[in-house]
Amino acid sequence: MSGPPWQWREDEWRTRVDRVRAGRALQPRSWPGNARFAVALSFDSDHETNELRDGGRSIGRMSWGQYGVRVGVPRIVSVLQRHGVQASFFVPAVSALLHPEEQQRLVGLGHEVGLHGWIHEWNTELPPGAERELMLRAADTLEAITGVRPCGMRTPSWDFSPETLAIAREMELSYDSSLMADEDCYELLLDGQPSGIVEVPVEWIRDDAAYFLMHRAGSLRPYTPPTDVFDIFRRELDGAIEDGGLFQLTMHPHVIGARSRIWILEEIIRHATANGAWFATHAEIAAYVRTAANAQNEGENR
Ligand SMILES: [Zn+2]
Repeated sequence: MSGPPWQWREDEWRTRVDRVRAGRALQPRSWPGNARFAVALSFDSDHETNELRDGGRSIGRMSWGQYGVRVGVPRIVSVLQRHGVQASFFVPAVSALLHPEEQQRLVGLGHEVGLHGWIHEWNTELPPGAERELMLRAADTLEAITGVRPCGMRTPSWDFSPETLAIAREMELSYDSSLMADEDCYELLLDGQPSGIVEVPVEWIRDDAAYFLMHRAGSLRPYTPPTDVFDIFRRELDGAIEDGGLFQLTMHPHVIGARSRIWILEEIIRHATANGAWFATHAEIAAYVRTAANAQNEGENR
């Protein structure tokens, strides 16, 4: 790779674009139990690693992370339990080591605990080899704590390096949930070849942090009231209902868990339930769309 982008040869920009791409669509013709559409709720339990990942030691910001543990997760879990809904929690290994009982409780209640880096590191800033080592160590750590080997990942801050997918394939992960080439599931291509890994796509539009986070020292301030955030999420959900597709939502315990916001989660669940949703973990969604697509292919080839 040399020179400024406007001087690149065609193979240079093509190679970059083709490293990780969306391949075949994996939207099934039907959902389990005659559901009209699917709902995948996720919570990124970053907790104190939001501060640690940049080398910080701010007591105040770490207390914000601890709010996620003390108030956010219990409040979320009680909403999920009230409605009998299973969800996915993506947990940095350091966060899981700080709060092992939280992860054990979640798995005990039937929720999924998925990979979310070691200390919420930026994958694209790591030296060569470090990303692989951290991903393997994070998977071993989550397995040791919960007793379940994680089968899927979400890169911290959705920061996906050119090596991330190859490492995920080596680890035989079933799915990733960090990319946004579609609203429905698709298979990831690595250098133009099918990787076998399902993408359960995310979007900043469907992420509570994009609307609610703030940073005291910076200019970042929440600018959207909770009622407007709910309206955006509900319109995304209504679109998924109309398409018979997937509604995937990303939330954070210290963000959505507040008294003034937790109702958004409950109203989304109520609206989805009233319209005939299949609620599932990201792992269940990935497994289902993969099996459905393969069966469909076999049927067409016969
Ligand atoms: Zn995160």
